[in-house]
Amino acid sequence: MKVVLIGVGQAGGKVTQSLAQFDYDMGFDAVRGALAVNTARADLQNLDIDTALIGQDRVKGHGVGGDNELGAQIMQENATEVLDELDGRITTEAEAIVVVAGLGGGTGSGGAPMLARELKRIYEKPVYVLGILPGRDEGGLYQANAGRSLKTAAREADSLLLVDNDAWRGSGDSVAAGFERVNDAISQRVGLLFASGEAVEGVGESVVDSSEIINTLRGGGIASIGYASAEASEDAGENVNTITSVTRNALLTSMSLPNAVKADSALLVVAGDPERLSRKGIERARRWVEDQTGSMEVRGGDFPLGSDKVASLVVLSGVERSERVNEFMDRAKEAANSQGATADPDEFTNDELDGLF
Ligand code: GDP
Repeated sequence: MKVVLIGVGQAGGKVTQSLAQFDYDMGFDAVRGALAVNTARADLQNLDIDTALIGQDRVKGHGVGGDNELGAQIMQENATEVLDELDGRITTEAEAIVVVAGLGGGTGSGGAPMLARELKRIYEKPVYVLGILPGRDEGGLYQANAGRSLKTAAREADSLLLVDNDAWRGSGDSVAAGFERVNDAISQRVGLLFASGEAVEGVGESVVDSSEIINTLRGGGIASIGYASAEASEDAGENVNTITSVTRNALLTSMSLPNAVKADSALLVVAGDPERLSRKGIERARRWVEDQTGSMEVRGGDFPLGSDKVASLVVLSGVERSERVNEFMDRAKEAANSQGATADPDEFTNDELDGLF
């Protein structure tokens, strides 16, 4: 799937750069453009991709702090400027636009859902938000901000692909090392997903294409992604169990939103050397995903890659009713209350949470 990426805020810019770099290093060429937008000049200076500084009249290049309402306002006021920057980058060949942001801060938290809304006004292509949830040990303001941002982004975007900062962090990681590990994990998983729709090597009818990714996400709401790999035998017939077990690992232990398995639809991409991919294994794994998710809409496809490993990439869509999301919303509600927010306490229940705008 050919995509254009727009990172908003610090995390958004860093993750966008890391996605663009992974795509380039792997030679996939699925990322057709990458732009980082921020209200803080300093955060843009460390990036190698194209950048746009917005809101200078309001915050003089110093950022919005944790004020995500201001982040949303500045994005709205500068939407034309940002869209102009994008013009020419979003060509007809791009099949989707992906807005990337940390949901707990200010610029990305408020700016990403607003930008998604503005993009949807103009483009016919799907607009996705790749949003990062703050870890459990981040402060209350981050949790409260992320609650409102998540709700708004899920409403505005065609799908909100959610990554929990606690999902892939090592237990002994410092905050910085943790971010780096999560950013690498995001670029590998999401990068492979984009690239999987682009595979041409060994084309066959079972090769996954962009429309399957788009159709999986079509129901909207919240989506998640997981991945696992293992060494494979040269003999496809011996890889039946390997394929089912990497799929099990991907779904049960590696999702970007952990413990959220029930879904409305799903996509299973099995990557590897076509000679090593067992059809029986892939079909068995796909049926297992149907059982686990309770969804009858589980698409499957291959991603031919020259490798001696096989890997399963699982995308779940419609996971917003999961325990995990409810648990996060409770955390956000508590945080907002303890900060003396004037919000109605019921505001942060999953169904009633007010959006940012
Ligand atoms: P903004 O610049 O105002 O949009 O705010 P930030 O992007 O700095 O922070 C928002 C949230 O993003 C925080 O809650 C952190 O959880 C998260 N965050 C910041 N930097 C990174 C990063 O490099 N990687 C990841 N995964 N998360 C980050």
